[in-house]
Amino acid sequence: MPVLKTATAERLVAIRGEIADACEDAGRDRGAVTLVAISKTFGETDILPVLEAGQRVFGENRVQEAQGKWPVLREEYPGIELHLVGPLQSNKAKEAVALFDVIHTVDRAKIAGALADEMKKQNRKPRLLVQVNTGAEPQKAGVLPEDTDRFLKECREKFGLNIEGLMCIPPVNEGPSAHFALTQKIAKRNGLALLSMGMSADFAIAIKFGATHVRIGSAIFGERD
Ligand SMILES: *Cc1c(COP(=O)(O)O)cnc(C)c1O
Repeated sequence: MPVLKTATAERLVAIRGEIADACEDAGRDRGAVTLVAISKTFGETDILPVLEAGQRVFGENRVQEAQGKWPVLREEYPGIELHLVGPLQSNKAKEAVALFDVIHTVDRAKIAGALADEMKKQNRKPRLLVQVNTGAEPQKAGVLPEDTDRFLKECREKFGLNIEGLMCIPPVNEGPSAHFALTQKIAKRNGLALLSMGMSADFAIAIKFGATHVRIGSAIFGERD
């Protein structure tokens, strides 16, 4: 047995409790919110205690980094569900489709097309979300809010993709509520069920606005270098 970092497992348990509380406050079913543990930059020593504590849903932001650590862990721990939450380059679509079960960051036609091609070739169907750049930040990935309806239609009609939800990352220097509300509104009018929003600092607020997937890294694994 590896030496387990209990602090990490304890933080996981605390976060689960906070998610349950936030669901109760929002009058939502606890089962409606999935915790995606964001393990980017962390290695096996940090990930193992979280797996041992029963967590099976994990997120990474880089395809290559995920390829380096998850295939081995997957053999040891059945039932792992892996989410890609970072920007995707079209030359990595093949690897992304092969490795991930959910991709949160579809945001342009080139990626949509590359994913559609690979999904056919590999006969694999990762679940897909479109990232919305709610703050219209130039450095940030994602479709602009006003372009989202059109892009969703393009994904469906031109590429035959079944987009199931939206993801957003609010600007760091603003309150997140308006961004969560906007994302929820766009999802609702497009009939999308999944909402990936809320990170360590703001997941309770995101749950109020209907988040179905909260992406929590540092509150579980500790600060990243
Ligand atoms: C790193 C990351 C997270 C987790 O952030 P924390 O603040 O550490 O919880 C969530 N979503 C995305 C897209 C990330 O890159």
